[in-house]
Amino acid sequence: PQLANQIAAGEVVERPASVVKELVENSLDAGADQIEIDIEKGGSKLIRVRDNGSGIAEQELVLALSRHATSKITDLDDLEAITSLGFRGEALASISSVSRLTLTSKTLEQSAAWQASAAGRDMQVEVRPAAHPVGTSIEVLDLFFNTPARRKFLRTDKTEFSHIDELIKRLALSRYDVSWQLSHNGQAVRRLKAAKTEEQRQKRVAALCGRVFAENAAFIQNQYGDVRIWGWIVQPQACSSQLQCQYSYVNGRMMRDKLLNHAIRQAYGDMLTADQQPAFVIYLELDPRQVDVNVHPAKHEVRFHQARLIHDFVVSALGDALSQLTA
Ligand code: ADP
Ligand code: MG
Repeated sequence: PQLANQIAAGEVVERPASVVKELVENSLDAGADQIEIDIEKGGSKLIRVRDNGSGIAEQELVLALSRHATSKITDLDDLEAITSLGFRGEALASISSVSRLTLTSKTLEQSAAWQASAAGRDMQVEVRPAAHPVGTSIEVLDLFFNTPARRKFLRTDKTEFSHIDELIKRLALSRYDVSWQLSHNGQAVRRLKAAKTEEQRQKRVAALCGRVFAENAAFIQNQYGDVRIWGWIVQPQACSSQLQCQYSYVNGRMMRDKLLNHAIRQAYGDMLTADQQPAFVIYLELDPRQVDVNVHPAKHEVRFHQARLIHDFVVSALGDALSQLTA
């Protein structure tokens, strides 16, 4: 239990999906609008993220990888040491310390691409010429090969991949402007073109949440002052435990917020029986100064300054939409 607690405690590389999250967030930070993710064996064999972002300049490759490539990394079975690396600006270095990581990148200004990887006990970074279009590819092989204690905590390939798929689903529902491709063991699992029009967005939601969701959802859009809500909500008759699609975003960030969930539940009121779950994809947009998002990053909770007002606005906006659906 001590070991399990340490793993659960640190917001570090817990499993392949956490690696994918860090890599994809870097791609988005780099302004990419095409992201391709290739997974083999649930990510334990290979995680490859390829983007068309701004790239990393040759002289910055070493820096990107070697931050915190300290003596700690020689003691790879010391979970505490790895946990203490933390993830504030050290994602790549940390991932590189528990895998065989290769970074290949090209910036617009450069005429050629470069590749970097760390090797040996001292994790010396080697840089060599490579071929790559503008953007970055990061390949993570054999995750946790040198930390057997962690490798032991990996579940089946199928389970690990389902965590990755869920993550991509969440991200794809927050970045319609990005085209996404996710493959597992050489097979494309998700292929989502950038969605610009309302119709294209709706198609993406249908692809991600399923036909039943798409056929029974109503598009909602409402505004109160500078608070805006939009998205899709499923009529109560179609809500079931199989219809797992509950996504809410606040200013573009996925949230699992108590107040929002309460408001959504309340909007359905007694239209749902005890064994039915609401189904929705909802976006709340408001002045960033009206909300604190870092209450607890891992829990996806927010604090609204005008909590009561937001709550009641969501209840009434969704309530209106639902009563039109069921009328
Ligand atoms: P952080 O994202 O917190 O800065 P990371 O370890 O995740 O730390 O990444 C280190 C640095 O490497 C980033 O600050 C960025 O400059 C660069 N980088 C990583 N991935 C990419 C990418 N896909 N495209 C461009 N730059 C990247
Ligand atoms: Mg990062």
